[in-house]
Amino acid sequence: MFEDKPKVLRRLVLLGLAIYVLPMTKQVGLYTGKRVVGPALMSNKTPQLARDVATPKRNVLLITVDTLRADHLSLYGYGRSTSPHLARWFQDTEVYERAYTPSAFTPASVVSMMSGVYPYEHGVRALWQKTPAHVNLVSDYLGEAGWNTAAVVANPVLVDEAIGLASHFDFYDDRMGPVEAIDDGTSFTTAHGRERLAGDNTDAAIAWLEQNGEAGEHFLWVHYMDPHGPYTPPPNTPVRFQHEGTVSVEPSKLRVYQRQEGVDDALDYVDRYDEEIAYTDQEIGRLLEYYSERGYYDDAIVMFTVDHGEVMLERDTWHFEHSFHVWDGIMHIPLMVKRPDVVPARIDTPVTSTDLSPSLLDWLGFEVPEHMHGVVLTDRADDDILYMENGWPDSQYAVVQGSKKWFASASRRGKIEDRWFVDLDEDPAEKTRGEWYGSPAERELKWRIWWDPDHGRKGLSPVPSGQHTHGPAGADDARAEQEAILKALGYMD
Ligand SMILES: [Zn+2]
Repeated sequence: MFEDKPKVLRRLVLLGLAIYVLPMTKQVGLYTGKRVVGPALMSNKTPQLARDVATPKRNVLLITVDTLRADHLSLYGYGRSTSPHLARWFQDTEVYERAYTPSAFTPASVVSMMSGVYPYEHGVRALWQKTPAHVNLVSDYLGEAGWNTAAVVANPVLVDEAIGLASHFDFYDDRMGPVEAIDDGTSFTTAHGRERLAGDNTDAAIAWLEQNGEAGEHFLWVHYMDPHGPYTPPPNTPVRFQHEGTVSVEPSKLRVYQRQEGVDDALDYVDRYDEEIAYTDQEIGRLLEYYSERGYYDDAIVMFTVDHGEVMLERDTWHFEHSFHVWDGIMHIPLMVKRPDVVPARIDTPVTSTDLSPSLLDWLGFEVPEHMHGVVLTDRADDDILYMENGWPDSQYAVVQGSKKWFASASRRGKIEDRWFVDLDEDPAEKTRGEWYGSPAERELKWRIWWDPDHGRKGLSPVPSGQHTHGPAGADDARAEQEAILKALGYMD
């Protein structure tokens, strides 16, 4: 077999580069040609981590919300009172001003959060891809050390059948609620828009704590879904927002799952989105109230973040979506950390949610596994380079360093087709397109795209087609149902 010469040459050059560059940077990790892996990451059995016994064992409560923009929270300066409970419970904590998600695909984001490695390392980059068995999560390490681990999730793409996380927890509650109805009389939008409402989610978390809260230390993760479209706050939402003026919206700029019949004022959509946030906030408040009353809160580590944000009206292309771009409205996320005896602070060092797992392990006295790409939040340096990706079928990438952000979009063959630069301090709306200028961050980004094991996500279709790198072989019926759910949620058109 003859390969064409440019291809061979490119591989030789890359091999040479790899030998030369690999030892220079820990950021690159150990490449096997497919995935960045380390011995611990590759273990099907969770290794027991060394732990400093002088560090107190603590309970951990991790609260995450789907599709929640940082700047729609009161704590991040939003003018509307969307989130008085989060403001109350996290006012005096460590509030990260520049936190990012590595992906706006829920499974990719969540698995990075839980594993401490980026999506190109753990391999979960689209929907309906099961988490590979060798990827160890923070819940595995804590479980191995005696913590009681539980997850309560409300997004249908996080059901065990879709993502395969149940085996990483002692208890995994992925029961979905009824269809999230839209009051527009259409049959499509009322079908399969399942989620579990925040109230039911909080009930499920409290029920688990009632049963297990006293049985040793716990790690409890609760994921809420409500702000994800369609924006249909329940009747018991605590507040109704009303806007002034009108911004007409073209239906063609709304994904099908977001369109509400007869609603053509974009600000109506924003009102409903904010009401979904307020309703979720009320239910998170109820959970934290319970957590405090039971005496867990004071000595626990309590963290709040989201899987990704949502574009509102700031772009001319899509409105109210999060699938195609790496703009800050989507990738910038809120992150608050309550730790006992830590001085409250607003922290503007850029961090990534990939840092959550190493941070938790470190703060609980464990040695952080070598392979983890995330860094303990409190050890992050201002000039660390953070990676992020989004988009399907074409791939969008960005890296952030301080206030600087480099963008690249790549073809399905991994060729950079567009690239530009923005200084977020000067242009927070990301409207300008500066030139790349030869910085180390650019080289890092190019390197990532060259070596991306799933160029253009090819083979990673979000359609449950059975062609995935890591996809499970499931029943056709389950797939058809999941496909309908994904369509309703806007992951497929
Ligand atoms: Zn999500």
